[in-house]
Amino acid sequence: MTRIRKMALALLGVALFSGISLLSQTETPLPDFRVRRVDPAKYNEVVRKVQGQIMVVAGAGSQVSVLAGPDGVLIVDDQYKEMNPKLLAAIKSISDKPIRYVINTHLHPDHVGGNEAIAKLGAAILASDNARMGLVRGFPPGTTTPAAALPVVTFTEPINLQFDGEDIEIVPSPKPSHTDGDIFIYFKKSDVLAMGDVYTTDYPAINPANGGTSQNVIDDWNYALDHFIGPKTKIVPGHGQISTRADLIALRNATSTIRERFRKMVKDGMTLEQVKAARPTREFDQRFALENVGHNEIVSTDAWYGTMYNEAKNGQ
Ligand SMILES: [Zn+2]
Repeated sequence: MTRIRKMALALLGVALFSGISLLSQTETPLPDFRVRRVDPAKYNEVVRKVQGQIMVVAGAGSQVSVLAGPDGVLIVDDQYKEMNPKLLAAIKSISDKPIRYVINTHLHPDHVGGNEAIAKLGAAILASDNARMGLVRGFPPGTTTPAAALPVVTFTEPINLQFDGEDIEIVPSPKPSHTDGDIFIYFKKSDVLAMGDVYTTDYPAINPANGGTSQNVIDDWNYALDHFIGPKTKIVPGHGQISTRADLIALRNATSTIRERFRKMVKDGMTLEQVKAARPTREFDQRFALENVGHNEIVSTDAWYGTMYNEAKNGQ
């Protein structure tokens, strides 16, 4: 081989290599800010296509799935109240048509904060019975939900909505896990599943006060895998990155392994401090630890260790 040919091949190799890295760089991560104090000036919305007719808007608070078509706009969750002007501008950049429906995956303020303003624009809000009841009681406890922010259509069983040519299945998750009123929203034609905070691309946010356990989360994930998620399905998490079946299976398997480790360590009489020192999540942390996945001021891996330890102690 001549030296020039060798050089040309080497250059081609470099070009191919940089081409590949350029391709992977086009998928920059979505913003994922789970913050306590929401300063909208600090956070910008990013709009990206998920698949089929579904787009996602990501900024601070929930990831928002957007279905836009001839009938108008339907969104899943609506971030923090403070982000509403920026969220509405982002949705406008997708479609000029009115927002007709808002589906709340659950009652947390980073998922329902835009309800009042968007309902006043004429949208109908849908949520599970339990999510609405929680909002009526006030969440966080001690707060009041404005009447306009309350869901007007509620359900305890799966329902279907036909809109923009999509057959949309809205299905309560079978077990309490993140809250006692979580739902899945499956856009059949586009093959996109919105999972709310039952799935957030990191160690699951379990709420024991609502009856949540890691086993319930695993059961909810398995239900979603069995009923909705095929090889080409795209998953919109409540927070975090657009995912595939393989991503959810990886987290499920990691969570099952970690759960068994906690049970064994508790059975062996280890204290929480000893469990933390033994780090039973070690090989999964790079991919799934809360602090490696997004900017999270609400839950820490430390608190998650406490939840996992307590449920193992309670034999759950
Ligand atoms: Zn939540």
